[in-house]
Amino acid sequence: MKCPFCRCDNDRVIETRTSDDGFVIRRRRACQSCKKRYTTYERIEIVNIRVVKRDGTRVPFDREKLRQGIERACWKRPVREAQISELVASLETRLEGETEVSTQRVGELAMELLRKLDEIAYIRFASVYQDFANVQDFATALQSMTSEKVVDDGGTESAANVGE
Ligand SMILES: [Zn+2]
Repeated sequence: MKCPFCRCDNDRVIETRTSDDGFVIRRRRACQSCKKRYTTYERIEIVNIRVVKRDGTRVPFDREKLRQGIERACWKRPVREAQISELVASLETRLEGETEVSTQRVGELAMELLRKLDEIAYIRFASVYQDFANVQDFATALQSMTSEKVVDDGGTESAANVGE
């Protein structure tokens, strides 16, 4: 792997780590020439997945666009760049083998993964992606998250299953 700093092709893997779901391998590398460190990700390549939008049009799956949406949701949250990369890679892995996927499905997967990472980021993402119709929807989603932590208070459970 060429060093992104000095372009020298002389690196050494200093750490190899597998993501929680086991679908992504992260390698920490050290350039033997300039001594700088960088990270590479190994994941299953997904090809030819098309996303079906709500109006029925189909567009190629856009990793960057998804990543930007996630990054926006994680703005000023204690989420590291590496965690976002892993999230995107995990999501892609789950789409492996499919040829078409709805925007809704992509959104649900993103929410499911984001929720494990940071609850505020999850809510932000959900509010954009789920297109909450009104304040009540939003409040219900918030409440479902809270009631999961507290002992079951008999609150609404419909929104608690989002993305699961
Ligand atoms: Zn280098």
